[in-house]
Amino acid sequence: MALTKKTLHEISDLLNKKEVTVQEVTQSVIDQIDAVENKTQAYLKLETEQALETARTLDETLKSRDRKNVLEGIPYGLKDNMCTKGILTTCASKMLYNFIPPYDAHVYERLMVDGGILLGKTNMDEFAMGSSTENSAYQVTKNPWDLSKVPGGSSGGSAVAVAADMAYFSLGSDTGGSIRQPASFCGVVGLKPTYGLVSRYGLVAFASSLDQIGPFTKDVEDCALVLNAIAGHDKKDSTSLNIDKKDYTVGLKDGVKGMKIGVAKAFFGQGLLPEVRQKLEEAIALYKEMGAEIVDVSFEYLDYALSAYYMISSAEASSNLARYDGIRYGFRAEEFDGLVDLYRKTRSQGFGSEVKRRIMLGTYALSSGYYDAYYKKAMQVRTLIKTDFDEVFKNCDVLLTPTSPTTAFGIGEKTSNPLEMYLSDIYTVPVNIAGIPGISIPCGLDQQGLPIGMQLLGSVLSEEKLLQAAWAFENESGYKNMKAPLGEEA
Ligand code: GLN
Repeated sequence: MALTKKTLHEISDLLNKKEVTVQEVTQSVIDQIDAVENKTQAYLKLETEQALETARTLDETLKSRDRKNVLEGIPYGLKDNMCTKGILTTCASKMLYNFIPPYDAHVYERLMVDGGILLGKTNMDEFAMGSSTENSAYQVTKNPWDLSKVPGGSSGGSAVAVAADMAYFSLGSDTGGSIRQPASFCGVVGLKPTYGLVSRYGLVAFASSLDQIGPFTKDVEDCALVLNAIAGHDKKDSTSLNIDKKDYTVGLKDGVKGMKIGVAKAFFGQGLLPEVRQKLEEAIALYKEMGAEIVDVSFEYLDYALSAYYMISSAEASSNLARYDGIRYGFRAEEFDGLVDLYRKTRSQGFGSEVKRRIMLGTYALSSGYYDAYYKKAMQVRTLIKTDFDEVFKNCDVLLTPTSPTTAFGIGEKTSNPLEMYLSDIYTVPVNIAGIPGISIPCGLDQQGLPIGMQLLGSVLSEEKLLQAAWAFENESGYKNMKAPLGEEA
């Protein structure tokens, strides 16, 4: 098997046994990028020269000592909304077309300490607003399972980098589904950790009370390994949870015997593609066979989650994005007449239409006279949804749902209808509203050969249980490290 097709933990084993060098590993991924990136356009900026240089130095060092941990020498990709000192960080926006951060995001720093090798920054929807990566100001990333389909979004580039073997893992951010939905569309594993488990320091803010960073990987074991590296308290993020570090590989392979897996009607309603429903039913049957207990659970307020999400996230975005005014950094309109005109022209020309739509919606929802009717109402709904989940997790350990109602849709299919695009997030946004963790893992292919994703949810800080349930399914079902046709061909 080609090196690029292997998982992170397989490559790590080979490196430990000194059967391959870091340079060989890095070069093989770069060769794969050279072969397929012109078709997929997953990366906005490649750092391959630097990656090879780091690999060379590391190989020298490893002549005299053992690898210090599992990520050392492993090439990866980073979503372009995470700050990398000295490396362009654009958020796929014209507004930040020239922004070179003077500091590193906490997660990037963590990965550097562990010795991971950055390959480049991946494409995304502008400022992480979108579900298809079509809102990037620079390029449209294609799904490696079918180049006429979207990869999902907003972390589409990070999902494709892993799905097409152009990275052993990558990081994305998830505000309403931006890790899980693209993971599901691209047939890889994607985890949104509990809010506060991974530091947001250096992540360009979209909606601060919902944003969370997490990994894309080829299998569940890799997901646990990357989470080990990035989770943990950081005093530079005031919402970072101050809890002891855990090893997420402990208990990973313990199986699901006796585990209570919840299924709720609310997640299997209208709009769910029959093929997705069928695969989910097969997954439920398999869990039963493996000894899990399937329990029916119900929600009262889930129907309001999507509206509440778009209200809250847009309100926070309108506040967070107020800083882009053309004064200190980033894009500035060339011609203007006075300060107010500078602001107006810079923001009109620098932001794309989806970002402007959210800013307008959010500003409206927060304005005096409408605050109570919209923002406050949405926050009350948020509390009700949290309570709903609390009740549900009294009766089950893990909740099983589809990740998205459909498989990957066509490029251009939903761009003219924002509401239809928003509906793609219907099963993922409640999770961010409640602040709980969620993982998406592959559970089969549809008739067109496109991946279907299954979502597993748990209460706050139940990542270990989620990973354990996910690992059991992945190994029993065989839907593991699946290869996109493009990957095969290359
Ligand atoms: N698709 C959702 C949105 O457009 C979620 C985005 C995200 O998670 N960053 O808001």
